[in-house]
Amino acid sequence: MQAEQVQSKLPAVGTTIFTIMSALANEYKAINLSQGFPDFEVSEELISLVHEYMKKGFNQYAPMAGHPALREQIALKTDKIYHRKYNPDTEITITSGGTQAIYTAIAAIVKPGDEVIVIEPAYDSYVPAILLNGGIPVLYSLYGPDFKIDWTEFAKLISHKTKLIIINTPHNPAGTIFTEEDLNSLSMLLKDTGILIISDEVYEHIIFDGLSHQSVIRFPELLNRSFVVFSFGKTYHATGWKMGYCLAPEYLMKEFRKVHQFLVFSSNTPLQHALAEYMKNANYLELPSFYQNKRDFFLEMLHGSGFSFTPSKGSYFQLLDYSGISNEKDTEFAIKLTRESGVASIPLSPFYKTPPDQHYLRFCFAKKSETLASAAEKLRTL
Ligand code: GLN
Repeated sequence: MQAEQVQSKLPAVGTTIFTIMSALANEYKAINLSQGFPDFEVSEELISLVHEYMKKGFNQYAPMAGHPALREQIALKTDKIYHRKYNPDTEITITSGGTQAIYTAIAAIVKPGDEVIVIEPAYDSYVPAILLNGGIPVLYSLYGPDFKIDWTEFAKLISHKTKLIIINTPHNPAGTIFTEEDLNSLSMLLKDTGILIISDEVYEHIIFDGLSHQSVIRFPELLNRSFVVFSFGKTYHATGWKMGYCLAPEYLMKEFRKVHQFLVFSSNTPLQHALAEYMKNANYLELPSFYQNKRDFFLEMLHGSGFSFTPSKGSYFQLLDYSGISNEKDTEFAIKLTRESGVASIPLSPFYKTPPDQHYLRFCFAKKSETLASAAEKLRTL
């Protein structure tokens, strides 16, 4: 069988920009502020719990929908912070990360010819997942420096073929958040339609300046049509554990599980037991100030540099505008910055289908102070 004989299902897709930039960072021994992951440790207590559960023999398949005690903890937490009681038996499923949850929801819902509205810049897994399932991505583009949605313009994209809308708040890569007004506008728009939502809320706790996360769960018109996706990796500094979960009303979760059982069957058992135990303390409460300090430190260290910025409102990403330094394309500038200045970042253009002429790079500030200080020192010399 020759390579030419395989008709690629994703001909336009290459290796993700996260993998490319992390590899380049390693090759040039650059400080890696590209791919989003913390460079500090997971809590000792959580690690000990994982070890304990492995030693106790919790090493075989978990139930398909997830360990019941973990689903129970998630139900309690969701009720406490978003005031909606999800039924752990029928409305909560543990997944192997947020990306798997998003893929699973798309595969469960999208049929060939269905239109799915995606807001770009968009996390890079959304569009390929739609295409693999025969859907048609319909793109609504946001531009800097505000990356704000005009809901009247957005409404023009809705057609009788629209099956699904994918939203993401706090937003990767823009570092913006949806306001209550945004979600009210979306509620008005979807009222009396059968359009479904995937709401990617993996950065729910990483939100700054006293703002509060506007989950679709708080909006009755949205809640009953939404798959809401969360991530343990982001909340517990353990992106490599690939653990997340999805919440959805029973009629949607039933379809989600039909796909989930054949995609992964179930997720890592000892981690689920450990997380169920660890979640009993509300250890996410400190996350906003923890990450706000990192954002502020990084931006303070950039004072006097040639970059300009609007401080990130949420997520652990900060966009920096380099138009005061260069007018090169963002991919070229990001590569040059890695090779010549020793700092790796992510260019914004791969998050668009047709990239606009903007000059932004995304930097991950989920790093130790010394990492951020060394990176900023290099960036200040430009
Ligand atoms: N979510 C992370 C980011 O945006 C990385 C995910 C990945 O590498 N696929 O950087």
